[in-house]
Amino acid sequence: MSDMRELYQEVILDHNRNPRNFGVLEGANRHAVGHNPLCGDNVEVFMDVEDGRIHDIRFKGNGCAISKASASMMTSELKGKTIEEARGIMAKFHDLVVGGGDESDDMGKLAVFSGVCDYPARVKCASLAWHTLTAALDGSQDPVSTEDKEIALVGIEAALV
Ligand code: ZN
Repeated sequence: MSDMRELYQEVILDHNRNPRNFGVLEGANRHAVGHNPLCGDNVEVFMDVEDGRIHDIRFKGNGCAISKASASMMTSELKGKTIEEARGIMAKFHDLVVGGGDESDDMGKLAVFSGVCDYPARVKCASLAWHTLTAALDGSQDPVSTEDKEIALVGIEAALV
């Protein structure tokens, strides 16, 4: 577990310093804005979705290292995936950050986020980009807030674990 913790810090710091797919995506046909008022994290997700596949995905925003690294890793992981695959990965990521997930799930690099479940306040930072992604896929026009009822439950679940 301490190896995972070291890896976690390393990966988060790396993605925070050098976020991948950072910036506005010109010609995006999916877009959503998300906000985590508890920490002050803001994220905007842009996607170019064609034939049910995420051809391109970028993000911008500002916030803590975890929120930025999570968005950066999410975009790296989801580029080229179908919407169905993306939703599957999102569900597994949710399980991972609230309860450590199922060890049989192959989460790739995202597995480092299993460390977040020990810090309930950080779960919202880690999941903000993913909630924003879901809003973008659903075509929701309203900004996402981690304090919305449904999403806030994620934090409560984590606190109970
Ligand atoms: Zn944060």
